[in-house]
Amino acid sequence: MNRREFSKASSLIGLGLATGTSLAARDAASAIEQGFYKEASRKLPARQFDVVVVGGGTAGVIAAIASARQGAKTALVEAKGYPGGVAVEGGTALHSFYNLWKAFPGVEKRQLVRGIPAEMVDRLTARGGATGYAEMKIHYEYDSVCTAIDTEKYKLNAFEMLDEAGVYICVNTLMAGAVMDKDLVQGVILESRSGREVIFAKSFVDCTGYGDLAFHAGAEFKEPNDYAVVNSMGLANVDIERYYHFLASSDSVGQLAYGVRSGIPGQIVRLGSEGSNGYPEGFVTGAREIGMSSISTTVHDDYLMFIKLNLKLPQSPTDRDTVAKAELELRKRMQTGVELFNKFIPGFERAFMSRTSPNLVIRRGRLITCDYDITHEDVIDGRHFEDDVFVYGFHDLAPRLQIKDGGSYGIPYRALCVKNISNLFVSGMMITSDHRAHMSTRNTVSCMGQGQASGTAAALCAQNDQGSRELPFQTLREALEQGGVYFEN
Ligand SMILES: Cc1cc2nc3c(=O)[nH]c(=O)nc-3n(C[C@H](O)[C@H](O)[C@H](O)COP(=O)(O)OP(=O)(O)OC[C@H]3O[C@@H](n4cnc5c(N)ncnc54)[C@H](O)[C@@H]3O)c2cc1C
Repeated sequence: MNRREFSKASSLIGLGLATGTSLAARDAASAIEQGFYKEASRKLPARQFDVVVVGGGTAGVIAAIASARQGAKTALVEAKGYPGGVAVEGGTALHSFYNLWKAFPGVEKRQLVRGIPAEMVDRLTARGGATGYAEMKIHYEYDSVCTAIDTEKYKLNAFEMLDEAGVYICVNTLMAGAVMDKDLVQGVILESRSGREVIFAKSFVDCTGYGDLAFHAGAEFKEPNDYAVVNSMGLANVDIERYYHFLASSDSVGQLAYGVRSGIPGQIVRLGSEGSNGYPEGFVTGAREIGMSSISTTVHDDYLMFIKLNLKLPQSPTDRDTVAKAELELRKRMQTGVELFNKFIPGFERAFMSRTSPNLVIRRGRLITCDYDITHEDVIDGRHFEDDVFVYGFHDLAPRLQIKDGGSYGIPYRALCVKNISNLFVSGMMITSDHRAHMSTRNTVSCMGQGQASGTAAALCAQNDQGSRELPFQTLREALEQGGVYFEN
C-alpha cells in the first residue's frame, strides 16, 4: 500500500465505512463509556489453601516459611521471578540482628532477631553469600554489625528455603484483586501467563510493601509520599583498597567494616565517607544534582553495590505514569553516576554498572492502618508490650536517635492486624505511620521478624478456624518461641 492508498484506507476506517477492522474500531468506541470499559464477568479456576502470603519480598519469604513450617497449606504469590524484594534491591546491609552494644560501653551484646531470619542469614553466610555479623570498625554508634549480602545467592537461598518448607510458590504472578465477604478476605485474584485465577484461603498475609492486598480489601491507609524513590547500582571492576586509601588519605572514612570477601576474612565489606567528606568538588556537585549517595557494601572483590540514586516524585509511586517517567530518569541518573565515579574517584576508573534493581523502590508507599500504630516513644523508650511478637533494636537515625541504653523494643501483635478486617495480617514497610518510628520498624531485619510473626499467626488462625483477634496470644507466643524467636519480656 502506498502513502495515498494508506491515507484513503485510514479515512474510511475513521468513517466506519471499511470492512473488518472498522467494525472492530466502532465496537471498541461504543464499549468505552466516558473513559471506562465494563469487563464481562467470567468463571475463574479456583483453589483452596489455608494461608496465602502475597508478596515474596523481605517479609513475605519469612512469613510463608513460618506458615508452612507450622503445618498450614501455604501459597506465596510474588510478582517477580524470584523472592527477596527490597532486601536484594535497595539497602546497604541487613539492619540489624543485634542491639547497639558497641555504642554503649558495658551493655551486653545480644542477638535480638533470631528464628527464621537468622537461619536465612546463617545459611547464606555458610554458602559464601553474606558477611555474617561483621563488626563495624567506624560508625558503630549507628550500627554495631554489618550484614552485607550477595543478592543473587540471597534469591536462591530464599527460594530453596521456601521450597523445603513446602510452600506452593507462584512467582511471575501478580495479585490483582480481593474477593471479600464483609470483613473477611475470602480469596485473592491472580494474573499470570497461565491466566486469571483465584486462590481462596482462611488467613491472608499482605507483604507487598505497598499493601496491595489490604488496599483491594478496602482497608484504611495513608500515602504520605515523604521519601524519594530510588534505584541503586552495583559497580564492578572497582579497586576497593585504592578507594579506601583515597578516603583514608583525607581522614574521610565514615563507615567501615571488615569481613569475609571472596572467601577471604579480614577484607573491607562496607565503606563510605560520612556525607561528602573527602570527595572532589566536581564529584560532590554532580552527585548532589542526581541525588547520589555512595555508602556501599560488598561480599566480592572488585565489586561495590547499592550505590543509590534518589528522585523525589510529586506524588506517591502508586501512580503508574509518574513511575514510568521516574524509571527513565533514574536510569539516566545511574549512567551519570558511573561516569562521575569513573572520572573523579581513584579505584573506579574502569568501573561499570553490573546490576540495577528491576524497578524503583521507596522506603514507604501505602501505610496500612492496623489495630496498633507503633509510636516514636515506643521505639526510643524501648517499650515492650504484653503481646510482643519479637524484639528489635536498630534505628536509621542513630546515633542521633537510638533505642534507650542500647536495648530493644517490642513489636506488638496488634501492629500486624489490619483494622476492621478479621483475617488479614500485614508485615514489612507498610506498618507504622509515625515517620521516626518507621525509620526503625521498616528495616529489613524488622520486616523479617514481622514476617515470622504474621506467618505463624496466620497458620494458627487457619488451623483453629479463628480470626486474627480470636487467636489466644499465649498460643502464638509458644509457637514463636518454638520457632526460635527471642523475647525480652
Ligand atoms: C532505597 C532503600 C534503601 C534501604 N536501605 C536499607 C538498609 O540499608 N538496611 C535495611 O535494613 N533496610 C533498608 N531499607 C528498608 C528495607 O529494605 C525495606 O523496608 C524492606 O526490605 C521492605 O520489605 P517488605 O517485605 O515490606 O517489602 P519488599 O521487600 O519490597 O517485598 C514486597 C514484595 O511484594 C511483591 N509484590 C508487590 N506487589 C505485589 C502484587 N500485587 N502481587 C504480587 N507480588 C507483589 C514485590 O515484587 C516484592 O517482592 C531500604 C529501603 C529502600 C527503599
